[in-house]
Amino acid sequence: MTEFRSGLGFDLHPLVEGRPLVLGGVTVPAPRGLGGHSDADVLTHAVCEALLGALALGDLGRLFPDTDPRYKGVSSLGLLRSVMALIATKGARVVNVDVTVICQTPRLAPLLPEMARQLAAAMGLGADRVSVKAKSPEHLGLLGREEGVAALAVVSVNVS
Ligand code: MG
Repeated sequence: MTEFRSGLGFDLHPLVEGRPLVLGGVTVPAPRGLGGHSDADVLTHAVCEALLGALALGDLGRLFPDTDPRYKGVSSLGLLRSVMALIATKGARVVNVDVTVICQTPRLAPLLPEMARQLAAAMGLGADRVSVKAKSPEHLGLLGREEGVAALAVVSVNVS
């Protein structure tokens, strides 16, 4: 019997000097990047959190602790591949992913298709199953003041 499950992921990282801005595995031309232990790819982290949530497997911080030097500066697409391998051992097959990144600047629209391609490749999914959207925070709050970048993800998963 196949069971249908969904998962929700959220993440937020601060914008800091001297770091590249990596979103969905794509290095985005920008004066500042995201601070964090790994490459701080907030978009990919939200997808990982959603996948783990769908299987009730905890969260990314529990799986890949930021106290572990093995994960320092690591590509988050690699973490995503590891999460996919983990959920596959639980009989899960991803149906689709929908992710929204909330970022004041730079404008991400031209890079969204490449982010979706990178995520789809890391997850072994067809392009029609991975949606990446961007929203402006309209200059409101901490995201509007460009203090950080946030992302939200929803996934659907078949488990059999
Ligand atoms: Mg994170």
